[in-house]
Amino acid sequence: VTVIVARPADAAAGLPYQDPAQPVATRVADLLARMSLDDKIGQMTQASRNALQSQQDIATYKLGSLLSGGGEAPGNNSASGWADMYDSYQRTALTTSLAIPIIYGLDAVHGNNNVYGATVFPHNIGLGAARDPDLVQRVGRATAEEVAGAGLDWTFAPCLCVARNDRWGRTYESYGEKPEIGVSYAPVITGLQGTTLGGGSASILATAKHYIGDGGTTNGTDQGNTQISESELRSVHLPPFKAAIERGVGSVMISYSSFNGVKLHGHKYLITDVLKTELGFTGFVVSDWAGVDQIDGGQGFTQSEVAAAVNAGIDMVMVPTDYRTFISHLRNAVNAGQVPQSRIDDAVKRILTKKFELGLFEQPLSDRTYTSSVGSQAHRDIAREAVRKSQVLLKNANNVLPLAKTGKYFVAGKSADNIGNQAGGWTISWQGASGNIIPGTTILQGIRQAASGATVNYSADGSGIDSSYTAAIAVVGETPYAEGRGDRTGSMSLDSTDLGTISRLRAAGVPVIVVLVSGRPLDIASEVGNWNALLASWLPGSEGAGVADVLFGSYNPTGKLPVTWMSSVSQQPINDGDGKTGLYPYGYGLSYTTVPPTSTPPTSAVPTSAAPTSRPPTSRPPTSAVPTTTRPPTSAVPTSAVPTTTRPPTSAAPTTGSASCTVTYKVAGQWQGGFQGDVTIRNNGSAALSNWTLAWTYANGQTITQLWNASHTQSGSSVTVKGLS
Ligand code: BGC
Repeated sequence: VTVIVARPADAAAGLPYQDPAQPVATRVADLLARMSLDDKIGQMTQASRNALQSQQDIATYKLGSLLSGGGEAPGNNSASGWADMYDSYQRTALTTSLAIPIIYGLDAVHGNNNVYGATVFPHNIGLGAARDPDLVQRVGRATAEEVAGAGLDWTFAPCLCVARNDRWGRTYESYGEKPEIGVSYAPVITGLQGTTLGGGSASILATAKHYIGDGGTTNGTDQGNTQISESELRSVHLPPFKAAIERGVGSVMISYSSFNGVKLHGHKYLITDVLKTELGFTGFVVSDWAGVDQIDGGQGFTQSEVAAAVNAGIDMVMVPTDYRTFISHLRNAVNAGQVPQSRIDDAVKRILTKKFELGLFEQPLSDRTYTSSVGSQAHRDIAREAVRKSQVLLKNANNVLPLAKTGKYFVAGKSADNIGNQAGGWTISWQGASGNIIPGTTILQGIRQAASGATVNYSADGSGIDSSYTAAIAVVGETPYAEGRGDRTGSMSLDSTDLGTISRLRAAGVPVIVVLVSGRPLDIASEVGNWNALLASWLPGSEGAGVADVLFGSYNPTGKLPVTWMSSVSQQPINDGDGKTGLYPYGYGLSYTTVPPTSTPPTSAVPTSAAPTSRPPTSRPPTSAVPTTTRPPTSAVPTSAVPTTTRPPTSAAPTTGSASCTVTYKVAGQWQGGFQGDVTIRNNGSAALSNWTLAWTYANGQTITQLWNASHTQSGSSVTVKGLS
């Protein structure tokens, strides 16, 4: 006689896998034992919501996951619209016999950027400039709340690529050119997932991507070939993944790129031997969007590609459109013995483990607790802090910055009043778009708020400016792009629109401050000498006020370059330690307390604890362009070092009055940084300040003789001269 005793769990909560009191491993084993091959293959399948032939396919094919690639938003693109959509799909998944919930993923790569009204944080390159792991953890936390608030479970972030060539269109998705920044930013995983996955509120699954070497391709070609030694792959590209795994990242996405000619999507050694075995990654590996289709180089989506990918160690396949083909290919491959059942079980076990840990079985429908946090002021405050900290001040001739909150300013440039340009790619849609496509604050609006006591006028192209302004601010740079569409194979200069805008501003003879909105360094060496100040803003996102915080001195800039800034596009790739001298070295960035960029930034300006990689630059920008003999000796800065004997010869001037003189200078036809000093000259208050010869002897005896041929403003007997040539 066999007596069957029902276990308490069965009685209380149905089957063991449905019992939250059981350990996750027990629940997984129980569920796995109940699954057919089709159930298992379904779990390994991720379809794009736009490609669903019908919603019922979720149940028919037992799909394990859905995703929204960029732009695949519900008709109601609000947080609650997303949550409603999610619940509807989830309810369909729960109609299957085992009622396994789907896991829904999307690219929340700088906040929950697909959802209208969400807080959009700076892209990773800006966060890299901030060198602030605690900030990045808080950004991750806010993102998790905004993803959970839209009902979703999983973000395909962080991108841990180490971008080694600025030509690459995904450079802005990188924290920087060195692995150390990505390593120090592992706390972002804790921000997204919580201390334990599912262990606290608003815990979403994170994805470390793209494994591995995506930022190291030859010529910076997106999805290209990374041709380096394994030891370089390990020392440059692996460390951020290792750190993320130590933080418990739940999933890893495979890179489209190849390593020495072998597609990562079929690279068993790197996925199974290195990632899973050597690094001990216990989460699941997801392919990139149709990445498996590329294994054999575009011969169509074949059974052998599917077998190669799964055998290499990919656990879930992101198949945007062809989910039915994938399912039949994998079923046939298993039945033909091409893929062992044990590999299928391992893959499904990994996926189910994360679903259990996330608590999806207990709460499959969206938790609306965080819906009101989407775009909240608290999150926008974090974003504004991130923007402030990501600004890198590269040039500040005559200490033109910070600007006074009173004065008369002219703002221009195609990105001055354009949140879409500020946000870049992966904003609402895959490629992003110019225009005020999301709520937030443009840089112009931020300037207007900050300079509340000033007159601020604006025109996009700079027309309308005249010499009555205190300063002109040009907000220029790149327009949105994503992935390979952002690859730049030719020039990386500013476009003619931007150059035209800046030249209109310069023609007014007022100081010109350039705010560069771009996903990477641009080729500006031939232009920067004409600008009085340069602020690298990267892609700051929805909170443009953070840029104004720096311009007007509410925040003294602390950002440091996370990449080496080329002095010419022909230097690409250029990275710290490769012997090339760029315009500005890795780690460079001025503060208002530091001297102008003709001097080496003091080491005290470089954070040490938060940024182990940041170090004082080895060279000064721009070294190649400026013969050292023509620079003012450092002993002449600050101006108190200028002896009274260095005054312009009184014989050259009338005998009454004085002038406050701001000195900049040209070398080889280019304006260089400068310094400010009070040079007392004799002036009768009416003589034209032109064609005078100014002789200035520095404390070390060096003499500069210049023809005074500069624009100037005059107020009573005080004359400010803006240039000498
Ligand atoms: C990108 C991934 C992204 C995926 C889903 C791919 O094209 O390479 O980074 O997660 O699309 O949108």
